[in-house]
Amino acid sequence: MDYENAGYLLHVCCAPCASASIERLLERGEQVALFYSNSNIFPYEEYVRRMEEVKRLSQIYSLPLFIDEYDHDAWLTHIKGFETEPEKGRRCSLCFSYSLRQTQQKAQELGIPRFSTTLTISPHKRSPQIFSEADPFPGFVTDDFKKKGGFARSIELSETYELYRQSYCGCEFSIRTDKEQ
Ligand code: SF4
Repeated sequence: MDYENAGYLLHVCCAPCASASIERLLERGEQVALFYSNSNIFPYEEYVRRMEEVKRLSQIYSLPLFIDEYDHDAWLTHIKGFETEPEKGRRCSLCFSYSLRQTQQKAQELGIPRFSTTLTISPHKRSPQIFSEADPFPGFVTDDFKKKGGFARSIELSETYELYRQSYCGCEFSIRTDKEQ
């Protein structure tokens, strides 16, 4: 599919979360384009590893994929002062707003009227917190992909496509906490 026909830009955090989100949107008849924008991910090698899996997934579903610039220093500046917050706290809110702003700007640049994020599929994330950060950005669709068994379906699809599933959320501050869970 050419992106000119896309009506919905999906911010993709990783391939496993994208799998079931894409499936749901396609079942609904959406014309989807993907946007990999994850300056939160550390280290860079991990960012690349997740990106390569997203590229593979975009080919499986024959969807256009756009890749954002990786700027972890800018992300660190954005969350400055909240590094030690627990997961689901203020640091994560700022992290969401960073990626959502990037996605809204990309949607505007491409002329795609609506957008959302795969972040809502994770049971480790509260969708209302994500929606609240999306409030200032016009065009955001409050799709909650964890509803109707979305996360379980993402695990099934990850096994089907043999997708790499990471053991922590993404930033350096989540490496220790996620592994302790
Ligand atoms: S734990 Fe995840 S959502 Fe929270 S700041 Fe780190 S990368 Fe972002």
